[in-house]
Amino acid sequence: MPVTPSANIGVVGLAVMGSNLARNLASREGNTVAVFNRSPERTRLLVDEHPEAGFVASESYDDFVASLQKPRTAIIMVQAGRGTDAVIAELASRFEPGDIIVDGGNANFHDTIRREGEISPTGIHFVGTGISGGEEGALNGPSIMPGGSAESYETLGPILASIAAVAEGEPCVTHVGTDGAGHFVKMVHNGIEYADMQLIAEAYDLIRQGTGKSPAEIADIFAEWNTGELESYLIEITAEVLRQVDASTGLPLVDVILDEAGAKGTGAWTVQNALDLGVPVSGIVEAVFARSLSSKRAQREASGDLPGPDGEFAVADADAFIEDVRQALYASKIIAYSQGFDEIIAGAEQFGWDVKKGDIAKIWRAGCIIRARFLNRIADAYAEDPELVALVVAPYFRDAVTGAQAAWRRVVVAAAQSGIPTPAFSSSLAYYDGLRAPRLPAALVQGQRDFFGAHTYQRVDKEGVFHTLWSGDRSEIETTPSSH
Ligand code: NAP
Repeated sequence: MPVTPSANIGVVGLAVMGSNLARNLASREGNTVAVFNRSPERTRLLVDEHPEAGFVASESYDDFVASLQKPRTAIIMVQAGRGTDAVIAELASRFEPGDIIVDGGNANFHDTIRREGEISPTGIHFVGTGISGGEEGALNGPSIMPGGSAESYETLGPILASIAAVAEGEPCVTHVGTDGAGHFVKMVHNGIEYADMQLIAEAYDLIRQGTGKSPAEIADIFAEWNTGELESYLIEITAEVLRQVDASTGLPLVDVILDEAGAKGTGAWTVQNALDLGVPVSGIVEAVFARSLSSKRAQREASGDLPGPDGEFAVADADAFIEDVRQALYASKIIAYSQGFDEIIAGAEQFGWDVKKGDIAKIWRAGCIIRARFLNRIADAYAEDPELVALVVAPYFRDAVTGAQAAWRRVVVAAAQSGIPTPAFSSSLAYYDGLRAPRLPAALVQGQRDFFGAHTYQRVDKEGVFHTLWSGDRSEIETTPSSH
């Protein structure tokens, strides 16, 4: 029997993310949702468990495509990589010009650019979309970062807006830019998430080791911090994680969890692309490497008896130290976000995307893992000056960092003196000092480069490119880089 096109949107891939997104779509007025999964058991399970959703279920690509109204719109939520390519091929061979294929998985934005380049000549739109918020976000309202053409967003935008999280009355979705822009911004979001989590972990470690407070007591501190400028989902869940007691041992759960942090790769992508773009994202880099170091069990065990500083680390005034850590955390967090936005700006320039930084800050205010009160401040800063050269120099952030810097320095000194690793706190402070330094030792590095490789240098007092004849008379000649 021929299938009638009754669904305005379809979802392919019904594991946890796809099922929840399909249920979210079905719960919104006006949507009829077609669903398909390679293994039909998943489709049947979803339809059986959620009859209220009124899904239009198919067990073949032919029937799935036939069940979609034109322009056909299908969101792919399958394993990123080859799974995504396989589903795109199936859909593209059946879709027509004007139809829209959306990849909502965690694709590498380079793949998204490639896929868009391959598909767009057929007249079919391909939209790579970042979706943040995990399975709960997919079900109740994620933060959504679509790329692709502006034309496809006319159809897709209202559908995505209907399922997105809402922050202060605004849906957390915006057309980020063309082709891979959405997945790029989602990648940087995840990189910032790594930095934010590492900074919070360092704050916890400092307080625990410096004051001897228990995880439950530190949970109260984080809960208190969550009522102020640090208010965010990550601070909120940190309090909950620290308060959790292990059922089998009665110990704080954080003490029985193996201290080896896992990673799925988007943090590493953020760092790799920052290196390609030449953007210092030291907070994110250190967070990614801190997870790597934590998992080097053999090296850690072999190094366990290396000497550290003498004596116990115990702070004299616990309350003052905790307040210092709070301020250091806020300052370091500002640096991490500033660096993340720098990467977005550099990526937009490199790939030709018209990314509105303020809109990105706004769509991260709800639904996603880094949702936080202070994203409003970032949106305000870019609204005031869309060409802002660095977030940290915007008046609000300049004042915040200025107010925190004494505490920030005390904390980094205390950590170094007591042998507590704080790579993200320390590198953020070093980055801040590097930014504000009137003169950097990069001049010496240029001299070294010219010495061994004749790489040339520029001078502070006159135009031109120079090379010193280091041996012989040690005189200088004006030259051009291309002559070497
Ligand atoms: P997943 O475990 O990443 O993938 C499983 C799904 O992919 C199943 O539906 C599977 O079908 C399908 N699949 C794999 N290879 C396929 C192929 N060659 N052809 C057709 N289908 C194929 O699922 P998930 O955890 O729900 O994640 C879905 C996507 O969302 C992924 O890209 C993931 O990275 C992303 N994700 C995002 C977040 C977030 O917070 N944004 C969180 C988790 C995941 P079968 O049932 O037939 O095996």
